[in-house]
Amino acid sequence: MAEAQVHKNFIGGEWVDSESGKTYQVKNPAHKTTVVGEFQSSTRVDASRAIDAASASLAAWADTPAPQRASVLSRALGILERRGDELARSITVEEGKPLPDAQGEVKRAMNIIEYAAGEGRRMFGYTTPSELPTTVAYTVRRPVGVVAIITPWNFPLAIPAWKMGPALICGNTLVFKPASSTPMTAVKLVEVFEEAGLPPGVLNLVTGSGSSVGNTLVESPDVKGISFTGSTEIGTGIYADGARSLKKVQCEMGGKNAVILLEDADLDKALDGIVQGAFGSTGQRCTATSRAIVEESIYDDFMGQLIDRTSKLKVGDGLDPEVDVSPLSSESQLNTVMGYIGIGAEEGANLAYGGKQLSGGIYDDGYYVEPTIFTNVDPSMRIAQEEIFGPVLTAFKARDMDHAMEISNNVEFGLSSSIYTRDLTKAFHYVNTSEAGMVHVNAPTLGGEVHLPFGGLKSSGVGHREQGVEAMEFFSEVITVYVDYGGVPRTQAKFI
Ligand code: NAP
Repeated sequence: MAEAQVHKNFIGGEWVDSESGKTYQVKNPAHKTTVVGEFQSSTRVDASRAIDAASASLAAWADTPAPQRASVLSRALGILERRGDELARSITVEEGKPLPDAQGEVKRAMNIIEYAAGEGRRMFGYTTPSELPTTVAYTVRRPVGVVAIITPWNFPLAIPAWKMGPALICGNTLVFKPASSTPMTAVKLVEVFEEAGLPPGVLNLVTGSGSSVGNTLVESPDVKGISFTGSTEIGTGIYADGARSLKKVQCEMGGKNAVILLEDADLDKALDGIVQGAFGSTGQRCTATSRAIVEESIYDDFMGQLIDRTSKLKVGDGLDPEVDVSPLSSESQLNTVMGYIGIGAEEGANLAYGGKQLSGGIYDDGYYVEPTIFTNVDPSMRIAQEEIFGPVLTAFKARDMDHAMEISNNVEFGLSSSIYTRDLTKAFHYVNTSEAGMVHVNAPTLGGEVHLPFGGLKSSGVGHREQGVEAMEFFSEVITVYVDYGGVPRTQAKFI
C-alpha cells in the first residue's frame, strides 16, 4: 500500500512540522481502512508560534489598502475554481458527503470569497455633522487584530472560507485550527491563499486537537477575536473563556431544526424539502431538518409518502454518483447516532423506518446507517430535544398551527426553521414568531446565501451573525474620528 502523504502546518509562510514530531492519520469514512493523509499532532508551542507569526504580520496587512487585499482574494477565487474538482473530492473522501454536495460546498466557498473581495471597495464608514464648529466627524474601520478561526468537520471548506474571506478583507491576521478529522481540505484551502500571494504570517494553519491547539488560541492574550463554529457544548465554554479576556467572540453552534407542515400545503414540494433536509449530507448539516411537525388531518397520509420516498434512497460511498445518503463522518458520529436511535426506541417512539447500521459488502468498511424515521414522538423525549446530527428524522402530530408552533419553539436551539403552507396569514405569523435565526417558507431548513446573515438564536448562536455585511461588523472595529480644522482655540465649546 502506498505511504500516506504527510501534511504540515503553515506558520509564517513556511510549511513546517510540529515540534512534537508526531503525526496522526485521517481515514476515509466510506472505506475506513483507507488512509486519506497524515497530519501534524500540534502542541501549545506550535499554536503559540502561529500566534506570534500572525502578530508579526498584522501591522503590514492592516496597512495594506483594502482594495489591494481584495486583489489577493480575487486571485484566490480563480485558484478555487481551477482546483474545484480536487477540493470537492477531498471533502468527500475525508468527510464522507456525496460528491454533488461537496461540489456545492466548493461553490459556496467561491461565492463568499467573491463577496468578500467586493467588500474591499466598500468597507463603509459614515460622516455626520458635528455639534462643534469647524469640525469634521466620521467613522472608519480597523481590523480586530489576530483572530482565531476554529471550525467543525461538517463543512471543511465552506465554513473556514466564510470566516476567512471577511476576516482577511478587514485586515486581520489569522490562526486557523480546523477540526481534527478534516484537515486535508484545510491544507488545500491554505495552499490556495498561499498561491494567491497572501503575505507570510497573514494566514497560519495549525492542525491538532481542540484541547491543545484550540485552547491555546482561546487563552492567548494576543488573540483579539475568535470565530468559532461547532457544538453548543464547546462553543459555550469558548464564549465564556473569551469574555474573560474581553475578546470579540462569535459562536455558531448546534441545531434541532423543525419543519411545520400544514394541511393546505403543497405536499409534493414539502416531501422533497423534508427528504432533502433530513437525509441530504447524511443529516450532518447544522441546518438539517431533524423534526417534521405535521397537522393531524394529513399526518397518516404524508408519513406514508415520506416513508415510501425514504425507502428508495440509496446508501453508499459519496463518490458513487448513484448514492443519495453517504456514511457518517466518523466512528464517534456512528456511535452517537446509533446511541440516539436506541434512546428513541427506549423512550417509546415508533421506529417507522430504518434504524440499523448497514452491513455486508462495502458497508462493512464504513460508517453506514439507514435513513431513519421515528413517528409518534413526544416533544419531551430526548430524541425530540437533543441534536443527533445524523440521518434521523423525528415526526410529531400537531392538532393545529398553534400546537405546531409550540412544538417547534419548545427546544433549546434556534438555528433554522421552515413552514409549508399556502396561507399567507399563517406564513407571516410563523415568520414573526418562529424562534430561529433563519426562517424559511415553502422551502427546506437548509442553506443560505453568502450576502445574507447566517446564524442562530438561543443555544444555536451568540455574538455577531456570519456572512453578509454582519461579517464585516464582526471582523472590524469602528473608530470615530473628530478633526477640528479651525484656526482658533476652542474656548467656547462644551466637551462631554
Ligand atoms: P466541536 O466538537 O464543537 O468542534 C468544533 C471545533 O472546536 C473543532 O475544530 C474542535 O477541535 C474544536 N475544539 C474542541 N474543543 C475545543 C476547545 N476546548 N477549545 C477550542 N477549540 C476546541 O464540533 P464538531 O463535532 O466539529 O461539529 C459539529 C457541530 O457543529 C454540530 O453541533 C453542528 O450543529 C455544529 N455546526 C454549527 C454550524 C452553524 O453555523 N451553527 C455550522 C456547522 C456545524 P477537534 O476537532 O480537534 O476536537
